[in-house]
Amino acid sequence: MEYLRNQKKTKIVATISDRNCSTEFIKRLYHAGMDVVRLNSAHQEISDAEGVIDMVRSVSDEIAILIDTKGPEIRTTTVEPAIEVQAGDIIEIKSDPTCSAHDRTIYVNYTGFVDDVQTGTLILIDDGYMEFNVVDKKEDTLYCEAITSGFLKSRKSVNVPKTSFNLPSLNEKDKAFIRFAAEKQIDFIAHSFVRHKEDVMAVQQELDKYNSDIKIIAKIENQQGVDHLAEILDHAYGIMVARGDLAVEIPFERIPGVQRDIIKMCNERKKPVIVATQMLHSMIHQSRPTRAEVNDVASAIFRRTDAVMLSGETAFGAFPVESVATMKKIAIEVEKSKEDNLEYTFVDKQRKIPSHLAKYAVEASMDLNARAIIADTNTGRTPRSLSSYHGKKPVIALCYSRRTMRELALSYGVIPMFMEPRSTPQEFIRNAINNLRLKFHVPDDSLIVVIAGSFGYTNGASYVEIGTVENLIKSH
Ligand code: PEP
Repeated sequence: MEYLRNQKKTKIVATISDRNCSTEFIKRLYHAGMDVVRLNSAHQEISDAEGVIDMVRSVSDEIAILIDTKGPEIRTTTVEPAIEVQAGDIIEIKSDPTCSAHDRTIYVNYTGFVDDVQTGTLILIDDGYMEFNVVDKKEDTLYCEAITSGFLKSRKSVNVPKTSFNLPSLNEKDKAFIRFAAEKQIDFIAHSFVRHKEDVMAVQQELDKYNSDIKIIAKIENQQGVDHLAEILDHAYGIMVARGDLAVEIPFERIPGVQRDIIKMCNERKKPVIVATQMLHSMIHQSRPTRAEVNDVASAIFRRTDAVMLSGETAFGAFPVESVATMKKIAIEVEKSKEDNLEYTFVDKQRKIPSHLAKYAVEASMDLNARAIIADTNTGRTPRSLSSYHGKKPVIALCYSRRTMRELALSYGVIPMFMEPRSTPQEFIRNAINNLRLKFHVPDDSLIVVIAGSFGYTNGASYVEIGTVENLIKSH
């Protein structure tokens, strides 16, 4: 039972690179509190990703795997050697993915770039560290004055705030990765630079070609994505607040408000949300986080995010296990005083009965100081509904598929477990309670809230039953 009490509810996503990976390493991250492994296809080839996936699977089938696409992003081509730029210098930018930089001319990988960018526009290169103002445009060239000094390097991000480009939703590498992801039956595709619902639909179309059940996480990293969040949520399984690019595309002082609004809408729509990037950035080099970083992780949890993410901290940092352990420590403490979402009623129009029951189950579990809520699930919908209220009691989700079990690795407060499909509701309750006794050593006098369905496990929840472990076992 101590295990249930010490369990963090906030989920942790850790980015893993093939350069810093072994089965032992993944095991250590998992035991430290990692729930989801993230691979970034922008920095990896398929063969590299395959090795990491096999290692993750050998550690546990409970760890979910998420792969990021490159998405419709613009980058510089090869700049070899790096070009030194002083504020006030003029450089030329041309559009041609096949050319490399020379003299004071650099190239970007999108052929329509020069046509789409107007004189007077701000161009940000390398995560915004290099700023340029477009002072002139002639035929195939933009003449740009440097506002900051630094070095222009190969394959760096190019952001043009407020300009929308007619880039395709997916490039060839993305399509190859989606096919690979479908073959390997990974759990989530996080699509980069989602601008509108069509970007999500394009990924879905690829997945449908392979009859894949992979769920799509839309990465919100520009103003268009923020503006179209509601329609994106109609098509995506969940959202990642990708603050790295978002803070380049929109003024950084707006990020806290945008993050708050995205989390709120995801909670209302019962969709998992991940807050990402630079959460414990200083732990790439140091064993302790800064006070500001502790507050950043805490504030995302107070605002009721489902998951927090580590990038460089685990992909190449010197303290990867410590970073996961630090997030876990912050989560456990913050969750004690965090407020729930019970002032809202998140009703799903197609599933009104399970929605109402979920709210009641969370309310009752807290009022009665129950040990846990248990739910059985085919698709994960009832546990996600329970999760959206961010209650204080753990939700033990007995899943009839291993895929659903892993998908719930992104939902706040849910402890997913696999269970063979049951034939009667009584069988589910018996198995679930036996699981609680065995795995979590729940004493017989503990109060448990059960949410289940009488009309077959594919038809959703139809009742809530509350009783002690002893009585539930006796009566079923
Ligand atoms: C981000 O921009 O915050 C992000 C998560 O995406 P990437 O790691 O691909 O930059």
